[in-house]
Amino acid sequence: MNKPFKVLILGGTRNARDLAMALSSKDKSGSQLDITTSLAGRTREPDRSFGKIRIGGFGGVSGLQKYLVEEKVDLMIDSTHPFASRISQNALLASQSANVNRLVLDRPEWEKQSGDFWIDCDNLDKAANRLPAGSITFLALGHQYLDRFSHRGDVNFVARMIDKPNFEIPLQSHRLIIARPSPIASEEANLFRQYDITHLVCRNSGGGLIYAKIEAARSLQLPVLMIKRPPAPAGDRFSNIIDLADEVIRLSA
Ligand code: NAP
Repeated sequence: MNKPFKVLILGGTRNARDLAMALSSKDKSGSQLDITTSLAGRTREPDRSFGKIRIGGFGGVSGLQKYLVEEKVDLMIDSTHPFASRISQNALLASQSANVNRLVLDRPEWEKQSGDFWIDCDNLDKAANRLPAGSITFLALGHQYLDRFSHRGDVNFVARMIDKPNFEIPLQSHRLIIARPSPIASEEANLFRQYDITHLVCRNSGGGLIYAKIEAARSLQLPVLMIKRPPAPAGDRFSNIIDLADEVIRLSA
């Protein structure tokens, strides 16, 4: 029997989970592919995925390179979040030094629609400085980015996070919502109304499920401080999961 084709998916995203599912359903015999998804371990209860899961950093480029060689990985797929630029850069360099094929699953950026009022910001610091005093600002950002807004004692913040934080929130005036984002625009709009939100800060992550907040902001005519993406590292990119899964099956044959 042929050795299964080893695929490492760098995950932590819904796309990565959907990709693992698409690959396992295309692997009809169940023996052609050996799929492992790698998670950074940021979420306390990550969603289940298909195939194996490994959790935790690799230890930089050299650690990832060692992993690829020791685990005899045939193909690495970068399906990380578009703002997770360090791991993507590490993946590019490690794939080159370990001589392992690497493909990238892209998430197309959101495009501004008629009715959107976006204030494009190069980074979080610029967004923090552009918020008007007295605004009630919804931060749709991970907890690790809140400290960039800590100097704005003149702004009231509402921060949403998936897990209850086990640290002190570095914001002066704030309220916390512990919940996953709703995929339904009317629910997001109700939440914004309930908290009298005047501004939204978010990153141009792309993707369907978390787009509801953008639609909600549009319906309420709220300004959105939209953080631009960091540049994406070079590589063979796919924006469609099925096309990428077909390519993996082709490479494994
Ligand atoms: P990052 O800044 O690019 O990566 C920081 C370090 O975390 C990396 O150097 C690596 O550590 C480790 N790491 C990141 N992703 C990993 C993975 N999939 N498997 C193993 N180690 C990983 O990433 P981040 O912004 O902290 O995001 C962490 C993870 O959360 C990513 O996997 C990403 O897909 C997911 N995520 C991120 C965001 C976001 O907004 N950034 C949003 C949703 C999901 P070592 O150098 O030790 O290998």
